[in-house]
Amino acid sequence: MKACLLRTPARIQNNPLEFSEVADPKPGAGQVLVRVQVCGVCRTDLHVIEGELPPKLSPVIPGHQVVGRIHETGPNAKRFAKGDRVGIAWLHQTDGTCEYCQRGEENLCNHPLFTGYTVNGGYAEWIVAPEGFVYPIPEGLTDEHAAPLLCAGIIGYRCLRMAKLGRGAALGFYGFGAAAHVAIQVANYWGVDVYASTRDERHQVLAKELGAKWTGGTLDAPPVPLDAAIVFAPAGEIVPAALKTLRKGGRLILGGIHMSDIPSFPYDLLYQERMIRSVANNTRQDGEEFLKLAAEIPIRTHVQMYPLSEANRALNQLKNDAISGAAVLRVQS
Ligand SMILES: [Zn+2]
Ligand SMILES: [Zn+2]
Repeated sequence: MKACLLRTPARIQNNPLEFSEVADPKPGAGQVLVRVQVCGVCRTDLHVIEGELPPKLSPVIPGHQVVGRIHETGPNAKRFAKGDRVGIAWLHQTDGTCEYCQRGEENLCNHPLFTGYTVNGGYAEWIVAPEGFVYPIPEGLTDEHAAPLLCAGIIGYRCLRMAKLGRGAALGFYGFGAAAHVAIQVANYWGVDVYASTRDERHQVLAKELGAKWTGGTLDAPPVPLDAAIVFAPAGEIVPAALKTLRKGGRLILGGIHMSDIPSFPYDLLYQERMIRSVANNTRQDGEEFLKLAAEIPIRTHVQMYPLSEANRALNQLKNDAISGAAVLRVQS
């Protein structure tokens, strides 16, 4: 099959993904073989490709926002039938037995596998995954518009839940890429006002179009104290700036898997019961709840399409803030 292969992590400017011919995967026990239609491009893919996340499998096929059709089922896989439309996300598998899995916190599993990082992902024509970690994709969403929901969407949803907001609450977003452009639609649906801070003016325009009450540069102060803020951008210097915008007892949620170092800041910024919390991965329940909600709202994603062979170009544009909404690779036409 055709796939984009990462042999050694390198800066994306060097176009490290090789568009190559590799062996087709075969579904093992409990697994399904999926013909990939599209695969979303996520900032985590950049962190894998550039080596900010330590390499776990080499070479590796990145990509963890896969939409495709079931083609074949392995031994004992009975959940899906050939032709079913499904999604495969970042959480590829958990052990199901560790203390976190037992406690219903499978996102924190001690022995997880991650799609497109510790196992091969969806920048390829075919992918295998355990059927229990595969999501049915609701009707009413095209393949390309569904793809960004599978990571950007689900993680944004988990961030929103952690922010614990009611109707009329004021919520800040730092960074306005793929996750934020979905999360704002959920926030608006819940009656929450969004104040979007982002360095890129094109992203400010999209935030306004999608109903942001206010937009500004990364370090501009929103006009009201915020009940919570979510940091989507991977820049640690945002943390003290965002703390300054919170009311007493406000929550700061960090949505990224990787962030540059957070500079030291005076305790006063945190005192008065402000909270900082990171979000790590997601549970399958998050994914199922969110996809149901996405179809109900319905969420409209903005996507920029690229052929699979141009994954390097899509990732370079993502790094340069040149994507409005989400980048998606088309694998089958
Ligand atoms: Zn576990
Ligand atoms: Zn992701």
